[in-house]
Amino acid sequence: MGDILRVCALYPSRMNIYADRGNMILLERRCAARGIGFELSAAEHGDSIDPGAFDLFYIGGGQDRDQVQIAQDMLRTKRDALARAAEDGKVMLAVCGGYQLLGESYELADQVIEGLSIVSLKTVREPGPRLIGNVVIELEIEGKPQRLAGFENHGGRTYLGEGESPLGSVISGFGNNGSDHFEGVRHKNVFGTYLHGPLLPKNAWFADYLTALALARDGTPVELKPLDDVLEDAAHRCALDAGRRSRR
Ligand code: GLN
Repeated sequence: MGDILRVCALYPSRMNIYADRGNMILLERRCAARGIGFELSAAEHGDSIDPGAFDLFYIGGGQDRDQVQIAQDMLRTKRDALARAAEDGKVMLAVCGGYQLLGESYELADQVIEGLSIVSLKTVREPGPRLIGNVVIELEIEGKPQRLAGFENHGGRTYLGEGESPLGSVISGFGNNGSDHFEGVRHKNVFGTYLHGPLLPKNAWFADYLTALALARDGTPVELKPLDDVLEDAAHRCALDAGRRSRR
């Protein structure tokens, strides 16, 4: 088992709304509690990336304005490396605005933002309100049913291309577009989701799954030492309850 988790955060100074940087803090704390090293690097505007130098890539959410500002740079300086990392089975977690940029495009009223095209999906602005509120989704991980809870706030509606699988199905909330009951995407080890919260502190089990996958050397998630998760389990239950109460 690898004893260090090497994480690359993409544009953390811009793509970090709704406390999304808490996802990195949680990964770091859980690594520390298990005696696993943790290295966090930032790839900002103009920086190139060595896809082999990291186990996990992360991008948080952002306003449309932030997405416009990073998209071209991301295509120019990081696209090929990220595509290679995704093909090689590296773990990627992309939240909301970051998730939208994994796909081909994000269509706004007066412009189209070109995405990384790592995953086949498109995001469009359609008439209608922003999709806001608590979310609970159901998903299957390694053959086991699980739940993720979080909070969504997005104007874009995302539609998955043929052959892509959603991360989960919506139990409460809107998910990808408010109509097909899908939430997020999973493509190899690339995970896209609309769930803020931040996501990982509300779903520590998922942080562990990503860590176990990222540290895997042969594709099989490594076994992680169990931690005392009394508070983390309570936070998860609380987030699930919030989703249930606002069930639509
Ligand atoms: N700007 C995007 C939208 O409104 C993403 C927002 C977000 O990251 N919360 O759809």
